[in-house]
Amino acid sequence: MTMIHNLGFPRIGAKRELKFALESYWKGDMSRDELKALGAQLRQRHWENQAGLDLVAVGDFSFYDQVLDASFLLGNLPERVQGFQGDELDNYFRVARGRSAKGLEDHSACCGGGVAAGEMTKWFDTNYHYIVPEFTADTQFTLDASRLLEQLAEAKAQGVKAKPVIIGPVTYLALGKAKDESNKLALLERLLPVYAQLLDTLAKAGVEWVQIDEPILVTELDAEWQQAFKTAYQQLKSVGVKLLVATYFGELLENAALAASLPVAGLHVDAINDRDGVESLLKLLGDDKVLSLGVINGRNIWKADLTAVLDWVEPIAKQLGERLWIAPSCSLLHVPVDLNSEQKLDADVKSWLAFALQKLDELRVLGKALREGRDAVKAELAENLAALTARRNSPRVNNPAVKAAVARINAELGKRKSVYAQRASKQAEFLKLPAFPTTTIGSFPQTTEIRRARSEFKAGRLDEASYQNAMRAEIERSVREQEKLGLDVLVHGEAERNDMVEYFGEQLDGYAFSQFGWVQSYGSRCVKPPILFGDISRPQAMTVEWITYAQSLTQKPMKGMLTGPVTILNWSFVRDDQPRSASCLQLALAIREEVLDLEKAGVHVIQIDEAALREGLPLRKSQWKSYLDWAVESFRITANGVGDETQIHTHMCYSEFNDIIASIAGMDADVITIETSRSDMELLEAFENFQYPNEIGPGVYDIHSPNIPTEQHIVDLMKKAAERVPAERLWVNPDCGLKTRQWAEVIPALTNMVAAAKVLRASA
Ligand code: GLN
Ligand code: ZN
Repeated sequence: MTMIHNLGFPRIGAKRELKFALESYWKGDMSRDELKALGAQLRQRHWENQAGLDLVAVGDFSFYDQVLDASFLLGNLPERVQGFQGDELDNYFRVARGRSAKGLEDHSACCGGGVAAGEMTKWFDTNYHYIVPEFTADTQFTLDASRLLEQLAEAKAQGVKAKPVIIGPVTYLALGKAKDESNKLALLERLLPVYAQLLDTLAKAGVEWVQIDEPILVTELDAEWQQAFKTAYQQLKSVGVKLLVATYFGELLENAALAASLPVAGLHVDAINDRDGVESLLKLLGDDKVLSLGVINGRNIWKADLTAVLDWVEPIAKQLGERLWIAPSCSLLHVPVDLNSEQKLDADVKSWLAFALQKLDELRVLGKALREGRDAVKAELAENLAALTARRNSPRVNNPAVKAAVARINAELGKRKSVYAQRASKQAEFLKLPAFPTTTIGSFPQTTEIRRARSEFKAGRLDEASYQNAMRAEIERSVREQEKLGLDVLVHGEAERNDMVEYFGEQLDGYAFSQFGWVQSYGSRCVKPPILFGDISRPQAMTVEWITYAQSLTQKPMKGMLTGPVTILNWSFVRDDQPRSASCLQLALAIREEVLDLEKAGVHVIQIDEAALREGLPLRKSQWKSYLDWAVESFRITANGVGDETQIHTHMCYSEFNDIIASIAGMDADVITIETSRSDMELLEAFENFQYPNEIGPGVYDIHSPNIPTEQHIVDLMKKAAERVPAERLWVNPDCGLKTRQWAEVIPALTNMVAAAKVLRASA
């Protein structure tokens, strides 16, 4: 009999209850006991939601982050918070975000002041961010299983068939950072006895199975790390529980034999991304191990094709019998909770979707079909098939004109008319910019008035004309301020945009928006990715009116401001019925039309933001090239239809370009602006070594901080930059957009920036 189980459930709550509770606790409005009670209530509800499963994850709930939970479980806290007084939940928040609740911030007895927040980084290729474990050569581990045991007891009291879930030792080490550059792997020896102790403790608590997550098995591992797997699981072989090693987010490929040979009771693999690998895995697995197949996509929001899954899985079930389990491909942390919360979603689109709760329903149907035969779930399968067929045939999904336009794409489409050197001299003549030209990245402060006007408009309390006027007034304010500051290339300030992806998604055909489709990004922060469901087209111009209005207010060049296709794609839920690259090309064609319309309207500097290009890199380096090829091609198609005089800018919110610099150069933007102020221009090295051919604006103003950079500081940074990039190709600009800052900070900072540019020109 096939078992069904789940790897993890979204913890934030269908109405983001956890987010609101956390934020109110941090503000000092909610008590610690109330917060803890809400946590227990959410756990209870989420276990009820998973009724009928043979095993349910326990330990997937977290008040902030599951990796930070692991650090507490293993007693690995950064030195700067050791010896903290007070409640452990408050210490936990201090490690996570530098402080706990308001009023509880007295550090006089421990660290004497504030404490640095933990570093955050992306959880594999998801948009979830974890707190990076910190190691040194002296790191010691000690078990503190109290919270896990408490949750286990709660689950037991509720009659839940609990399967504790923990992060495996090798992945835990791989995710962390050695602060002193020591070899993290040397810590394995110290770490394993603590894991053994933990697993024995769980055995004593009556646990049969433990899910031990080792997702780094889907990445490239060198010999040392492969050996670490062997050592680790050899040593954990005789603990008193059965281990299910869980891998997800990709293919095992060359690690398949290693994964299959670990001396554990079961292995979970991602049968969405690695279906082809399953066949060979079956041969490698031996005849006593459980194989858990992740057959429901835990990363997307589409209904599964249940009949197709059964066609594929039934023969495997026959072969493995009780040794086959099925589950979602990964934890459901990465999808919204409940489709039924949606009141406004288009009925057609809604009928094609499945959020976490609906995905569990699909799992139950599959389980029943495998146990009792398909007839037992005839109605469910028929309904599923009808929805899938409707989606496949929907004219809202298929737009033959878009498909034809994509088919017509040829290499010429992505090519500028002339090479950079020729364009540059035409642009210089046309734009008449000084040396070290100054500009900003797009947004100006999103004031409370702007946000109020937008929410009043959305709620129908402000009419369209009044809203437009309010936004025009904001644009005018931004333009006037920039003229006063003496900036060279101006921006309209993005007052009318709520979000750089949503703004475009709302105006493109092929996109839908949920009300409650929130996914945790980090801590209490959630994002609500737009849903790209159909062929993409642009019914009308999206930004031209705003930009031309802004241009009408000034003689200086006004920069048109767009979000690029790769970023729109990477920050959306995307289609599962065509490759990402195909959706990206459709987006590219739509944004290209906008670029050309802007140019026609007299806008001759156009910035196309690709903030998320790097984020889309595949987990395995061997797959980078193919991603970069289509991502760069999509950008080129978007940008490069313009005439030589039109200057294309792009912007990226990071500065690690070492490993992708050739692709960045391949985009052939005339100007690229990047984030460099905090790294002291050291990261410009990539541009120096590669001899990046076009213009660069290395950020000189850290927009994440309320600090105002001084004129001298900016001059110094630019001089450092000029050691690496010829001065005639340098721009002077902030790291990123200014929407999260106040005008009172922005004005002095930009005043210093413009003054610094004058000093640089004088000394050039
Ligand atoms: N143009 C955008 C802004 O200034 C860019 C934001 C980003 O790169 N994340 O807000
Ligand atoms: Zn940015």
